[in-house]
Amino acid sequence: MKRYWQNFIDGAWVDGGAGRIDVTDPATGEVMAEHALADATDVDRAVQAARRAHLSGALSDMRPLERGRMVQAMGRYLLEHIDDIAQTLTLEQGKPLWESRIEVEGAALYFEYYGNQASTVEGRSIPLGRGYFDWTEYEPFGVSAQIIPWNYPVEMTARSLSAALTTGNACVIKSPEITPLTNAWFAQAAQTVGLPDGAVNMLCGLGHEAGAALAAHRHVNQIVFTGSVPTGIAIATAAAGNVVPCVLELGGKSAAIVHDDADLEAFENDIRWGIYFNAGQVCSAMSRVIIHESRADELLERAENVAKSLSVGPGIDRPDFGANMGAMVSDAQRDRAAGMVARAAEQGARVVTGGRKLNRPGAFLEPTVLADVTPDMDIAQQEVFGPVLSVLSFRDEAEAIEIANGTDFGLVGGVFTADLDRATRAARQIRAGQVFVNEWYAGGVETPFGGYGKSGYGREKGREALWNYVQTKNVAIRLKG
Ligand code: NAD
Repeated sequence: MKRYWQNFIDGAWVDGGAGRIDVTDPATGEVMAEHALADATDVDRAVQAARRAHLSGALSDMRPLERGRMVQAMGRYLLEHIDDIAQTLTLEQGKPLWESRIEVEGAALYFEYYGNQASTVEGRSIPLGRGYFDWTEYEPFGVSAQIIPWNYPVEMTARSLSAALTTGNACVIKSPEITPLTNAWFAQAAQTVGLPDGAVNMLCGLGHEAGAALAAHRHVNQIVFTGSVPTGIAIATAAAGNVVPCVLELGGKSAAIVHDDADLEAFENDIRWGIYFNAGQVCSAMSRVIIHESRADELLERAENVAKSLSVGPGIDRPDFGANMGAMVSDAQRDRAAGMVARAAEQGARVVTGGRKLNRPGAFLEPTVLADVTPDMDIAQQEVFGPVLSVLSFRDEAEAIEIANGTDFGLVGGVFTADLDRATRAARQIRAGQVFVNEWYAGGVETPFGGYGKSGYGREKGREALWNYVQTKNVAIRLKG
């Protein structure tokens, strides 16, 4: 493992004006590398480089088909380096090696999916009668600033970078300061496929310094942010100051409504993936299960079994898909989650299993199940961002919907039932950007994703996301004849 990693500005690897930051392996607590730390001057240089790349027309004048080919080639580059990227990701973020491989494959899929659509971003002509010819076309905004969270640093960067490049934008990416290393492969990919200097700039920097400087930069034309609600508000405020659009992908407290006719055996798999994948550090995690009271005991028994079946330990020792879970991203995140479990117990929740740190170095938390959770408890309202499942119960459909919709968030939701009418009613009533029926995380890069309420606005993934990165221009021509 390389000890020192640099930022990438205007086609060159550079040190940071704010010095260096330690990158820690959360499974051991040991420093594994250092990364250059950008300051506001570095941010300015990166934005200017992106602006020059944009204004040169090198990206936007290219035939979209060719640009799309380059975007697709970036995805292939990631797959060619999957072993190195996955290992680095596991060491800096904590997830099992097999999860890291899934993340790299998922990242590559974004480049394939969006690159393939470059030439489909078409305008239209609008009839204005004889004497006029009018058309619309979609132009890139110019400089796209993308601020990335630590839970999926590879996939989240891929998600916005692939769509932004496909539509001809130049990008400045602020990687997360605790998991910055894997972003280096995107810069290498951009170089390898021959994107012009300045088209992709990657910076690691502190949020309140480099992140804030980037969000407020007057030559940034569009912002994509994935992260917490308070930071999202700060970014939207900065964007408003420059009158530029932003996409906010924020947190969630997403709920699965499980009806009395649901297949609970199959639902064990949803519990396994929904709350213990990436140690629950997933914005769209199934952090609440709302179960019909007649089947609450059975559900709790099954959830306890799932939680206890997971072997928890260093992700690097977990190369194969299976019943295992890695470290959380940091001791601070682990302690925060453990503290929320303790508070839930004080407020009357019952810890069925888990809730404690492992007695070993590293940011490990036992997979946790909480019973007797009521909608007013903090644990039912606030995002834990850890492997903690809260189980609530309901008597009738209306109550289930009320509980599901009873938080400030609205990222995703789920309904589990054999009754199609019931599922459809719930899908329409759940206030969230995406509803899963009978499979948590059903969908893919092709399906639009984003929040209602405090979960944010704008959509990433799917066709919808492309329109974040373009602005409509209308051209009206007065003809002589
Ligand atoms: P965070 O908001 O603390 O940080 C996210 C990013 O913003 C980091 O790169 C950070 O450096 C930067 N940042 C922090 N303060 C900033 C500021 N003032 N100005 C500009 N940038 C700033 O979030 P986090 O703790 O890294 O991530 C966890 C949160 O992200 C959770 O709430 C989770 O739900 C959410 N999340 C959402 C999605 C989604 O797609 N909706 C995906 C992943 C994570």
